[in-house]
Amino acid sequence: MQPETGSLPNLVGSDLNEIESAIAAMGEAPYRARQIYAGIYRRCNRSWADFTDLGKDLRGRLSERFSISLPRLDCTFASGDGTRRYLFEVSPGMKIESVFIPEEKRDTICISTQVGCAVGCLFCVTGRLPMRRDLSAGEIVGQVLALRADRSVPSKRLNIVIMGMGEPLHNYDNVMKAIRLMADPEGLSISPRRITLSTSGVVPGIEALAAEPLIPNLAISLNATTDEVRDQLIPVNRKWNIAALLEACRRFPLEKRRRITFEYVLIDDVNDSPEDAHRLAALLKGLKKKINLIPLNADPWLRLKAPSESRILAFQEILIGHSITAYIRRPRGADVSAACGMLAGREHARGDLVHLPPRPAKPFTADRSRL
Ligand code: SAH
Ligand code: SF4
Repeated sequence: MQPETGSLPNLVGSDLNEIESAIAAMGEAPYRARQIYAGIYRRCNRSWADFTDLGKDLRGRLSERFSISLPRLDCTFASGDGTRRYLFEVSPGMKIESVFIPEEKRDTICISTQVGCAVGCLFCVTGRLPMRRDLSAGEIVGQVLALRADRSVPSKRLNIVIMGMGEPLHNYDNVMKAIRLMADPEGLSISPRRITLSTSGVVPGIEALAAEPLIPNLAISLNATTDEVRDQLIPVNRKWNIAALLEACRRFPLEKRRRITFEYVLIDDVNDSPEDAHRLAALLKGLKKKINLIPLNADPWLRLKAPSESRILAFQEILIGHSITAYIRRPRGADVSAACGMLAGREHARGDLVHLPPRPAKPFTADRSRL
């Protein structure tokens, strides 16, 4: 149980066993726990008064003992393309963000797993923030409950991408518990095939995930083709280099028709050369995969920019020439800072990054031979 909001223990984030024990202590039968569980996760009830199948007396006693609280919504920002960014305050002064992305045939919800991120990637605004704390399972699944209740059209398919603020494999237990709650057919009932976890390359976490009974789709933020460049872009590469990361990917169990997504943020003059594209194809040879090319979302706080359109297309062409499925991911919600790498818990659509550490020293020299 999560005591994160208010003084009462919060049942959002608890699994069925935990709810059973909690209400057994009140002398209630286990089937009541199922009703509570379904009310929280299937019907997205927001207050005890909504649990009309429980009887007034029990509702009253429950409300004295437990809360069913979602992360506190601070405000939302609506993009011209239909994307909506949600700013939550999970504890005083600690903000996280989630993004709702409507598409024609499906809705996608992008959720955060930490307040800040310890990895500190050079191209990511979240990585410029200090790491404050892990989110609880209730705070992670609570984002889905809040956004689904607010936006999603029930008839549409719902995809969950764990690609918001934070490195999910640095908060392994809470993220896995949240995934189990999302996937449970008695609860939110989102197929694990529709849940994607993205990691910067925490190899022991990938190995642990491979041994789970319930495995979401795996996305790897590769973003470079040499350790020299990746060491600079994604510091975690100094611990687990490209070879170690791809070795873990090769061992990762994939069901039929499933593949690993490799994300590759294209950064001008850093990782976008034709040689990089050929090297990328060679590195991933033999893996069941698709590649998402993400032109860098620029931000005043990052000293990097996206390549020209012709360079982006040329990169994709080379991959396609190697018979690799490679998509170019166009930003959604960029006008409200909701695009990949932009999530920073800032109060306004632009600016207000006063809590950021000073800018890093110039990360790359113009001399590309050094890369
Ligand atoms: N920490 C996890 C998940 C969150 S980041 C990870 O790194 O995978 C989600 C995705 O956004 C990653 O693929 C990351 O490479 C990408 N990203 C980060 N900053 C970006 C930026 N400025 N422009 C485009 N994509 C970015
Ligand atoms: Fe953290 Fe992912 Fe951003 Fe890197 S890209 S700083 S791992 S959130």
